[in-house]
Amino acid sequence: MLVAIPDLATAERVLCIQPHYDDNDIGAGGSLAALAERGAEIVYVTVTDDQLGVREELSEGEAREVLKREQLAAGEQVGVSDQRWLEFPDGGEYDYFELRRALVAEVRRFRPDFIFTCDPWAAYEAHSDHTRVGRAAAEAAIFQRLPRFRSGVEVDRDYTPHDVRGIAFYFSTAPNVVVPIDAVRDRKHKALDAYQAQFSPVELQLLHGALELKERSWAAGQSFDYAEALKVLSPVHLHVSPDAEEVVRNQDRVVVAWT
Ligand SMILES: [Zn+2]
Repeated sequence: MLVAIPDLATAERVLCIQPHYDDNDIGAGGSLAALAERGAEIVYVTVTDDQLGVREELSEGEAREVLKREQLAAGEQVGVSDQRWLEFPDGGEYDYFELRRALVAEVRRFRPDFIFTCDPWAAYEAHSDHTRVGRAAAEAAIFQRLPRFRSGVEVDRDYTPHDVRGIAFYFSTAPNVVVPIDAVRDRKHKALDAYQAQFSPVELQLLHGALELKERSWAAGQSFDYAEALKVLSPVHLHVSPDAEEVVRNQDRVVVAWT
């Protein structure tokens, strides 16, 4: 029997692991705002220092300060309760296994029931921050419950295994879940307006427009106007699971019911 796709609407503690400071909000800001509105605790972990993507007129010192300020403003719109930064070099040659250890520590610290991250298996995704972060987050969802795996920080000592029930991948080219976002869409798009170190006003307008097209197309044929689309899996699907491909490709997309 196929292992069922976990129900996103039941998520209570959500750890959102992003390569760059705006990925969670661009990829899943509406889904996360909807969960926050339902009382879920949302925590963001930003893996890189984002120094590669900032607009050229900002010095590195200015950029660091502005990026955090913008990220906190965006997080307020979405309903993020805490943000953590790992400061790996943006687009840099950092070690995958060091990243995986850091993410296991974050999972053990917060004990989420759901993890959000970018889809590392999205067709043609070339940015190595995205492929490394998505892979390491997926592996952390499995490894965090192995007591003999050491993340190397204090949290290992008092750790008792817990289960991550689901992992939701945004920027996926094979989504299996549709999330209605009509009631919170404004908050997502207001959050994106904060990201001015990364986008010029014209680029921001283009981003809003491109996202609106996708949000409308994911909602096509449904009783709502706007949606996000995610690939949601159980950690069980993420290791030696011949069912995972079938779960993603051969089943109708599940629509999240916000009741
Ligand atoms: Zn990114």
